[in-house]
Amino acid sequence: MFSRRLFLASTSAALWLPKMAYAQGGKPHFTLGVASGTPKLDGFILWTRLAPDPLNGGGMPAGIAEIRVRVCTDEAMRNTVRDEIVRTSDEDAHSVHYKVTGLKPGREYFYQFYYGDEESVIGRTRTTDPNAPEARVALASCQHYETGYYAAYRDMAEWVPDCVIHTGDYIYEGGISALGAQMRDVGGGERRLFEIVRQHNSNEITTLWDYRNRHALYRSDPHLQAAHAVAPWIVAMDDHEVDNNWASDTPQDPEKQTPLEFQIRRYAAFKAYYEHMPIEAPPTFHKMRATLQLYGKYHMGPALIHLLDTRQFRSDQPCGDGRKPLCDEALDPERTMMGAAQEAWLTNSLKTSPAPFNVIATQVWYTPYRYTEAPVTNMDSWDGYPAARKRLSETLADGVSNPVFLTGDWHTAMASTVYETPFDQTSRRVGHELVGSSISSSCPWARDMEIVRDANPHVSYLNGKKRGYLRATFTKDNCQAEFRIVEDSGRPDSLVTTDTEVRTKDM
Ligand code: FE
Ligand code: CA
Repeated sequence: MFSRRLFLASTSAALWLPKMAYAQGGKPHFTLGVASGTPKLDGFILWTRLAPDPLNGGGMPAGIAEIRVRVCTDEAMRNTVRDEIVRTSDEDAHSVHYKVTGLKPGREYFYQFYYGDEESVIGRTRTTDPNAPEARVALASCQHYETGYYAAYRDMAEWVPDCVIHTGDYIYEGGISALGAQMRDVGGGERRLFEIVRQHNSNEITTLWDYRNRHALYRSDPHLQAAHAVAPWIVAMDDHEVDNNWASDTPQDPEKQTPLEFQIRRYAAFKAYYEHMPIEAPPTFHKMRATLQLYGKYHMGPALIHLLDTRQFRSDQPCGDGRKPLCDEALDPERTMMGAAQEAWLTNSLKTSPAPFNVIATQVWYTPYRYTEAPVTNMDSWDGYPAARKRLSETLADGVSNPVFLTGDWHTAMASTVYETPFDQTSRRVGHELVGSSISSSCPWARDMEIVRDANPHVSYLNGKKRGYLRATFTKDNCQAEFRIVEDSGRPDSLVTTDTEVRTKDM
């Protein structure tokens, strides 16, 4: 068993951070840590970035840099299976994406980068294996830097999962908020406390320079670095990596940016995302349109995981977005959440999957939720895409083994049973949805959801008051989920506990 020495929680980041030897008078280069991701049967992507001045463009001189990377089967880094020199340059912000193939399935590996006299921290990762008896999956989303510390990631690193799924809002694009606590009206005459504990580094981000510095700010957090160093990540962005509630080619504020300006902004956001994530390919830019490949499938023991991209190819939110009753526009059967190619890929994979559990990791809620008795629903979630949801639910109800949605976006932990017809518990059972709370983003609409719990009897657990994440352990006949909650997100050393546990076989 892998020793947890490197990743042990501490209130002092210095205890976790690697000993870095570096050239005399120079600054350290591995300031953003290491990461692995996109795990396959025989390999993964290993990531780091040279950034001696991380919040100011990175600080590397223009041109090519050479970095040595080593992969071993042991934590002591003795039994070497790869030892290579990789090249990077300012074109990619001196980030490294080293693709490893040809390894054995279901094994643990360790890796380390070297630049000059410096060595990075040692990372731990795994190859996947459909035959593994168990898969331990951590689910994360929504990590607003200003509204909380990352105690959830400290706790996640201690768990040492087989993989981490991140369903988006890895960064937030907004400007700088004022520090301090504030009581805010949450409706019904009730007020709750919200806190800004640390600050963003610039106004709202729109350029490649801005997006790089914002990613670097978030990635400077030692507990986020620890969670990256402990397990391979499977990642896709949601809205805030680009712009709040963007959809395909449409930004949140079409009146504030031209279509061309938004395309350039989208490309900058995609490129900076690639430069900071352990994913295989950079975005392409073709006919003034950026595309980034994020959806994909992963064989985690009893769970076949499909990570969706519900942002890049969707129809615009209907009826003017927001929470409201469905208008005619929402009912248009042509409307899509995934785009035709991704939808066909998912349908085909689900229909042919031999796995006992079929996980669909989606950015936004699949479970219908009504905010009043006459359904007012969230147009940005699957509720705003009823025809697309109906198509997927029909596929799932038609013999797909144990579908489980793992979801983020709404800053609210939730467990539900999904029925084929929304709000009709006499229709066929489709599967379950488990939503992790946000890592640190606050939930000003928590009260709105609590007061209509009775109108949503398919929801068996709901908690928007606390930050946290989900631990899901899959075996061939059960998915056991622990909802981890952070006692005080204003403290990096906060206690993190299990709020509740659910088993899909009992739901
Ligand atoms: Fe969010
Ligand atoms: Ca979101």
